[in-house]
Amino acid sequence: MNRFVRFACVCCLFVLFQHPGWTQAPKPESVFGFRVGADYKLFDYPQQLDYFRKLDAASPRVVMKEIGKTTLGQPMVLVFISSEENIKNLEKYRAMSEALARARIDDATARKYTADGKAIIWIDGGLHATERAGAQMTPELAYRVATEETAEMKKIRQNVIFLLMPSMNPDGLNIVAHWYQKNLKTPWETTSPPWLYHHYIGHDNNRDWFMNNMPESYHVNEVLYNQWYPQVVYNQHQTSPAWARIFLPPFANPVDPNIHPGVTTATNLVGTAMAQRFSMERMPGAVASHTFSMWWNGGMRTVPYFHNMVGILTETAHATPTPRFYHPDSLPKLIRGLGESKPTDGTSIFYPDVWKGGESHFRDAVDYMITGSLAVLDLAADRKEEFLYNIYKMGRDEIDGKLLEKTFAYVIPADQFDRGEARNLVNILRQGGVEVHKATQSFTAGGKTYPSGSFVMYGAQAFRPYLVDLMEKQAYPDLRVTPGGAPIPPYDLAGWTLPMQMGVTVVKVNEKFEATVQEIKTREPMGAGPVKTGAYGFAISPNENASIKAVNFLLDKGEKVARLMGKQGDLLAGTFVIEKGANTEANIKQAAQTYGVDAVSVDAKPSGEMKSIRLPRVG
Ligand SMILES: [Zn+2]
Repeated sequence: MNRFVRFACVCCLFVLFQHPGWTQAPKPESVFGFRVGADYKLFDYPQQLDYFRKLDAASPRVVMKEIGKTTLGQPMVLVFISSEENIKNLEKYRAMSEALARARIDDATARKYTADGKAIIWIDGGLHATERAGAQMTPELAYRVATEETAEMKKIRQNVIFLLMPSMNPDGLNIVAHWYQKNLKTPWETTSPPWLYHHYIGHDNNRDWFMNNMPESYHVNEVLYNQWYPQVVYNQHQTSPAWARIFLPPFANPVDPNIHPGVTTATNLVGTAMAQRFSMERMPGAVASHTFSMWWNGGMRTVPYFHNMVGILTETAHATPTPRFYHPDSLPKLIRGLGESKPTDGTSIFYPDVWKGGESHFRDAVDYMITGSLAVLDLAADRKEEFLYNIYKMGRDEIDGKLLEKTFAYVIPADQFDRGEARNLVNILRQGGVEVHKATQSFTAGGKTYPSGSFVMYGAQAFRPYLVDLMEKQAYPDLRVTPGGAPIPPYDLAGWTLPMQMGVTVVKVNEKFEATVQEIKTREPMGAGPVKTGAYGFAISPNENASIKAVNFLLDKGEKVARLMGKQGDLLAGTFVIEKGANTEANIKQAAQTYGVDAVSVDAKPSGEMKSIRLPRVG
């Protein structure tokens, strides 16, 4: 045995000893049977899961975790990619990221976590299933970051914990992939399925990110704002302006003034680093400062702004595996957008590298998404300490009241028109990372007394921008194409004042007050109201939205429910009256417990007009 062979054997033994059970990480094409992004090819969600399970099993640098179930019951998974050492210490780094983002630690501790911690970077495969390349590119991105031995990838694995969400709309991925496969080689090949790709809300799954009505947004937000607090959240989309290849930040005007300016400038920084990489790799067609703004709250990449996180949206061209040819003679003079359009002659600062047309393939979209993602990871690895310290610093600025907004607290009084909605509001805010307290004694604030059980949200918290933005009215700036000319409309939602939308009384208090409170750490339970038995039956107030759910439940149980058409005594017009039968009391108690409604006694059949209610037939 010569020296080289002996050395090689020792190396092999060392590798085997180091990685018992690790096999070689599978290349995506070895699992899918085609290169991701190939013409006419899509994988579906079970195939995507299969790939990530295999990658997880084969690589010590990859771990996949289930974070919940989709609307249709499929597992939602999050993939962590980093160095083997970092992967072994995920909880340690998560805790540092949380402490920095919530900014309740002193500066010395923050400096230590900044030095010891890892940048937490979120990139996903999108949530709009007809924007098909997002999910398709994730296996290749994961494989490259986990396995390549370039200096750049080593640096990324060393300094970054990469949270890759393969798909935020797995149900839609199946619907869209199967539709495409079924219609391949027919005139409908490039059409969208006739069904919603999110079972209930279709494309508006990107407008649910403060309400969390859908399980997908709920589970992802739990990771973002109660567990991992990534410094950068990069969300993939594919409605690129016509003839551009990718939209990336800086965003267009306006920016919501509640957002810390450090977020806006960091978002510009990340976007510009991405644009730089496209220029240097000779991937033309990157346009910025176009249509998409930083005004809107409630989108997947916009909610991070209000948590002192960078939010990146890219809109990459070519969303179908069917190729297309753009004749260069058809190159338009302008890339059109809301407000300002960009000339295609190379004279625009935000569109200097013009794409001139030609062949366009699905694989191009995969390449642009991977290149953009690597630019983000590379920058985060280079500037890890800055990203970590800055999220802390921005949180401190908000706690210390160093910005324009200086509200002392918002109070949600315990007495409400609809108590159930007040509890829902508390749960929604807490799920979005807002610190909410509950008074254990009555207290006085701003000259008014509030009972025990009232909720208090103090302004002095790291995510103050989020709290304030959801409590206050929005005033969209008057933007015009030319002075006095046509208005530039908001590109998306323009109002999200939750107390108004949910019918909850919330009082803003500017002056300091004292109250005995406890922070709420879990969901506020619905809390069954008192059920009082009457001779005739029960009544449920129509004020509470939850009364509708309770009544449907009772009808389903075969109870007789009627609606009071006019006010009678203490009973409001619209009150639901339930006539007592054999099991009514037990059913009412269950409804009260499940939905948190009060049921009061009714001694005699109301004399006023009543309309009996039947269970509606749906579908
Ligand atoms: Zn989209």
